[in-house]
Amino acid sequence: MNEGRCLCGSVTWEVSAEPYAVYNCHCRMCQKAHGAAFGTYCFFKADQFRWTSSTETVVHYESSEHLVRSSCDVCGSVVPYANKAGDHWVTPGGCHDTMRKPDYNIFVVDNSPWHTINGDMPRCDTYPEESGIPSVEGLPVPQKTDGPVRGSCLCGAVTFQITEPFKVAHNCHCSRCRYGRAAAHATNGFVTYDGVQFLSGEERLKSYKVPDARFFTQVFCDVCSSIMPRRDSERGIAVIPLASLDDDPGIRPVDHIFVDHKAAWHDITDDLPRFPEGPPPE
Ligand SMILES: [Zn+2]
Ligand SMILES: [Zn+2]
Ligand SMILES: [Zn+2]
Repeated sequence: MNEGRCLCGSVTWEVSAEPYAVYNCHCRMCQKAHGAAFGTYCFFKADQFRWTSSTETVVHYESSEHLVRSSCDVCGSVVPYANKAGDHWVTPGGCHDTMRKPDYNIFVVDNSPWHTINGDMPRCDTYPEESGIPSVEGLPVPQKTDGPVRGSCLCGAVTFQITEPFKVAHNCHCSRCRYGRAAAHATNGFVTYDGVQFLSGEERLKSYKVPDARFFTQVFCDVCSSIMPRRDSERGIAVIPLASLDDDPGIRPVDHIFVDHKAAWHDITDDLPRFPEGPPPE
């Protein structure tokens, strides 16, 4: 038995078998929905999955003709959803840690320039042929820009631009990021408080602060639940999920932080420095 939950704990579930397939999906839609370099999905038959909470806070967004994504309306975390055949797609970022490792990196052609897909896990440009899942047209891959770096949510209601250079970016493996993003890890860039300017949809932003956290707050679009930039007045910074950006921000993550809290099913395969807890003081 493997249990999972969203960041706020309103939505919980359990699965009663090993997944029959596990994919790391690098498509731009998963990037935006999760606010992460990739989403990871474990596939289960309908009778191997069950909700263990009310699903009152689960909301839905149709991101393509084949897929209706689900998320928690309180905290913005992606939660499991079923495809038309009734199979369940479960995000192990929000599961306890005994899930097996992924089989494939999929939609690798959509990978963002700030993330390097490493390791020898097999790669596919769309879904593996054996899955029989129909492919979908993706969003464009971010390119270099001469102007301000632009960003948006999956539904397009929220748009913003970054008006100053990024100071740093980290891959964060802490459990709050893993549950919040429902992914292996977050990749966040940092600018000053005034370094992000919302162009549309700022009134659509919802936020959820983890009650026992000093700062940890997740900001998301109330239509599509994509994870959006968060301004932190106390620290004078803005935290930008690089996955929400539509242009290449130029910056690349400098390290992996909180690796003592890393998901057991995820291997770090690049050479960036690793820190057991937070980054060393600047
Ligand atoms: Zn929640
Ligand atoms: Zn995807
Ligand atoms: Zn949206």
